[in-house]
Amino acid sequence: MSCRKMHKSSLKVPCIINFRVRGASLHGAIRPFWMTCFVFIFAVLVFIFAEVLVVHAGEAGAGDDDAPRPGVENPPNESAVPREPAMITGVSWEREDTTVKVMVGTSRRIDYSAKVLSKTDAQPFRIVLDCDGALPGTLQPVIPVGEGVLERIRIGIMSQSPPKTRIVLDLSSPADYTVTDLPSGPGICISMKKGIRIESVWWERVEGGSVLKIGGTSLSSYRVTRLRAPERIVIDVPGASLAEHVPSSIEGNGAGVRRVRLGQFQTSPAVARVVVDLEDDVGAGIPFKISSDGENGSIVLLFSEAFPLRGRKVIVDPGHGGSDPGCISHSGLYEKHLTMSVARYLVAKLRTAGAEVVLTRNGDETVDAYKRVDLANRAGGDIYVSLHMNSFRMSQKSGVEVYYYSGVTQAKRLAQSIHKRLLEDTGFADSGIRVARFVVLKGTSMPSVVCEMGYLSNPDNERFLKNEAFHAVLAGAVYKGICDYFQDGDGKTRD
Ligand SMILES: [Zn+2]
Repeated sequence: MSCRKMHKSSLKVPCIINFRVRGASLHGAIRPFWMTCFVFIFAVLVFIFAEVLVVHAGEAGAGDDDAPRPGVENPPNESAVPREPAMITGVSWEREDTTVKVMVGTSRRIDYSAKVLSKTDAQPFRIVLDCDGALPGTLQPVIPVGEGVLERIRIGIMSQSPPKTRIVLDLSSPADYTVTDLPSGPGICISMKKGIRIESVWWERVEGGSVLKIGGTSLSSYRVTRLRAPERIVIDVPGASLAEHVPSSIEGNGAGVRRVRLGQFQTSPAVARVVVDLEDDVGAGIPFKISSDGENGSIVLLFSEAFPLRGRKVIVDPGHGGSDPGCISHSGLYEKHLTMSVARYLVAKLRTAGAEVVLTRNGDETVDAYKRVDLANRAGGDIYVSLHMNSFRMSQKSGVEVYYYSGVTQAKRLAQSIHKRLLEDTGFADSGIRVARFVVLKGTSMPSVVCEMGYLSNPDNERFLKNEAFHAVLAGAVYKGICDYFQDGDGKTRD
């Protein structure tokens, strides 16, 4: 940090004279001679004039604010004479709350620079202040402090000629600091407080899950954002910087977290960012708790085992089947086959996430609506999700809609969660969340929804719906909607 700037006066002599000697009265060889004399005399006059201006401008530039300023305003011929070194007249400190200030008094104003040095095996974190042109006089070389972040002050002569003193502030932890002139006379004031810093990040196994620990100093405040596509958790730590040795990423926990990335999101003001990238299939539903550990100043994310749906019972109802084909597309696709395909992907995801799944049909069989309701109620499912694809006489009609039975708050929330994810993942038009009195909605004793995942009568929708890879997309969206529903709280949150 450079704390003193020299004010330099710059002088430009404008080329204002543009004369021309007309040839009327001067002849032959005489003309160049007079010309030369004239130019020479003029040049001498310009030089003298410029010197006078420089001296005056220099005096004017060194205003009252800057004087006296050793080494700056002295004419060059005087600097050859060695000056008496400035003396460091005293070093004191004071503490205000978490801030510690060190005041270095000097006999006159001096040039100085400060830098911070990282911890090494032999040395603690340090702020180093170099005082040019100054010697420490009779100050003791080591002054123990033990206030806030400041452990001790060390004072040493770097060089007798030219005089230079180094003042080292040994710190107990990294600190943010500012250096200013002392307001009350010549000298320097260093103000420091514990810096907010991320020093390390690592995983720890705990009973029933894993813990991501973000270690450092003063990590008490943070902002958490959950982002989708891809699924991730973003933790911003305001005021924090990343220590140099912190890796830019570490592996995940092998149970829902793919990896953890770290970066300096912003420098002024500082914001450090930690991004927890989640696995696509089960990550969406992973429950986690975040807190800060006041004693160590670290941030702790507790991830439960990657079974976000453990203990949940989900009734999956592939619409139609057997003698009931459901809708039939222009190209001859049967809804009953497509819903079964989506259901298979959905069941796999739900089971991976620890849910117990009951299917209303396992193959191409005929099961009427009342039988489905009966089966669901006897199984005691937590939710009922019926999968369908729609059809309409006007082929322009397209999009996603989700139905629930009016009056059941939880069912409406389930419909909203799944509807939102279906829109996000399919890019299909929004045909809304609707109320209906379908048997499977009215008759079931649990929150239940009917998902219409696109129109088979619409050529654009059908182009996607006939593609099996797209069935996995649909299943993923429904799965994530189910996870969101349970995660956002159904009154039975589980740790
Ligand atoms: Zn249907």
